[in-house]
Amino acid sequence: MKVLVIGGAGYIGSHVAKAFLKAGHKVTVFDNLSSGLLMNIFDGEDFIPGDIRHPDDLDRAFSRGFDACVHLAAFKAVGESMVQPEKYSVNNISGTLNILNAMCAHNCRYIVFSSSAATFGSPQYLPIDEKHPLNPESYYGFTKLEIERFLAWYDKIKDIRFAALRYFNAAGYDPEGEIIGLERNPQNLLPITMEVAKGWRKELQIFGQDYDTRDGTCIRDYVHVSDLAEAHVNSLSYIDRENKSLVVNLGSEVGISVTEMTEAARRVTGKEIPARYVGRRAGDASALYATSALAKELIGWAPRYSDVDTLISSTWKVYQKYDKNPYA
Ligand code: UDP
Repeated sequence: MKVLVIGGAGYIGSHVAKAFLKAGHKVTVFDNLSSGLLMNIFDGEDFIPGDIRHPDDLDRAFSRGFDACVHLAAFKAVGESMVQPEKYSVNNISGTLNILNAMCAHNCRYIVFSSSAATFGSPQYLPIDEKHPLNPESYYGFTKLEIERFLAWYDKIKDIRFAALRYFNAAGYDPEGEIIGLERNPQNLLPITMEVAKGWRKELQIFGQDYDTRDGTCIRDYVHVSDLAEAHVNSLSYIDRENKSLVVNLGSEVGISVTEMTEAARRVTGKEIPARYVGRRAGDASALYATSALAKELIGWAPRYSDVDTLISSTWKVYQKYDKNPYA
């Protein structure tokens, strides 16, 4: 199929674009390069610079004719969304409506959307399945949930079929070593831990040690980006084959605490990784992990690279290529 990967120059998007390319699809990347990188665009992919906030850019892109699009062009910092919701409204919400409207105008019928476990909010039970109540605690999570609802309306009224993939904690890098772009100003645990291992940061701050968990630190479900990427390809096949939309959780089903992740990072990198316990971060749930049984059943998905050692070693390999922080 002809697939437009919106946000395909970013960290997750580049892995997704690679997976579609490897599966034999014709891939075009659309990205405004605000956090994406040209070095993340593969030979064999077309590139259209553009911004989802600008309907004209989308019109120009979709007029090339695509069977499907994948939408990963969102701001994703939970903390920032609680301070600057405007930014998230304009980009995540209005930008997605622009995409949906461009799809309608140009007869593109399939969309695979990066949703998030942040749509659930604090867990009422674990592991989290797709029937768990949706009660986002951050504005970021709210934008993802609203978009899922827009998608359902466009499915009903305009016959657009969608896959909403609720990622748990995306981590790791391409095991084949073909994607080596570092995220600018990363906010997530693993890249921050790598920056400490490299000596680019003095220490890792561990947010909270008084949670009701086995070691007092938060538990999360880390899932490898290449596993996530594969789920996008499988989901597009599903919605095409079944002519039916899809909402599934994507997690490794394994809960890892922040302390366990830090200790594993010390072991895998052989670096000291100084860490200090600090206060809790606003909005953090104590434990979050998924059941991915539905993804397994519907799209035949099972993580292959989401064990802790592969998550860390694939990331560390990329950081080892850099003598200094490229953004310092
Ligand atoms: N975390 C931490 N220190 C950091 C960054 C993250 O202790 O510098 C913790 C955070 O509180 C959470 C876990 O690591 O419990 C994963 O956080 P991340 O921001 O990577 O993803 P989130 O779970 O917020 O989507």
